[in-house]
Amino acid sequence: MLIMRGVISGIKSAVRATNYTPMAKNVVPFQGFRLPEIREFSVESSPACWNCQNKSALRQNMICSDCGHLQDVNAGINYFKLLSFPTQFSLESQKLTKSFRQLQTIVHPDKYSNKTSREQTNSADWSSLINKAYKTLATPIERGQYLLQLEGEQMPQDNSALNKEFLMAMMERNEEVEDAEDTKTLEDLNAQLIKELEGMSQKLNSLFEKKDLQGVKGTLVEMKYLLSIQNSIKQKQQSLLGS
Ligand SMILES: [Zn+2]
Repeated sequence: MLIMRGVISGIKSAVRATNYTPMAKNVVPFQGFRLPEIREFSVESSPACWNCQNKSALRQNMICSDCGHLQDVNAGINYFKLLSFPTQFSLESQKLTKSFRQLQTIVHPDKYSNKTSREQTNSADWSSLINKAYKTLATPIERGQYLLQLEGEQMPQDNSALNKEFLMAMMERNEEVEDAEDTKTLEDLNAQLIKELEGMSQKLNSLFEKKDLQGVKGTLVEMKYLLSIQNSIKQKQQSLLGS
């Protein structure tokens, strides 16, 4: 009876965890994750340049190729396009970082300090959008959620995508974290989680390739669980070190 009650309360807390209340401030990839509206242009037509009025092509999606003025930020731009990547889950993270740094150099506010105030504002706006795009694409779970939204799908609001076995296993792992009495045990648990998360990231890749969006959703929710356990490990480690 007591055991049953423990199991039920465990399931309840696991269910609550799907609604995702981050346990620490440094891990807020989900609640703080808001996507911009995705603007669809029927034709890939650039709006007229605010400076020279020409409708010329944009360099790096940002700069008028006629007069070289930095255009207003396009918050709805596809992050993959902004960072010069194909819109797909698989990407080379070193290449992504390189592309990110190149873009940040181009729009660096120091370069615009002597320019018009509109360009100064634009450089700050682009710079923060590039940061946001990079952070989104660099993290597998955020990249997965972003791609899912580009496909017109949303993350499930409940844990119906999960099976009971998975939830039970997660409860057990939470208990392992709670019961851990030294940092070595916690490190081992964390190493295991890192391995599993890598495997899930590979799984996401093939699910996206197969356009299995249901599978994608399920995997993303599972990743959230693992990340929340990882978060508990961090907290526990801090409390062990602090005491
Ligand atoms: Zn222009």
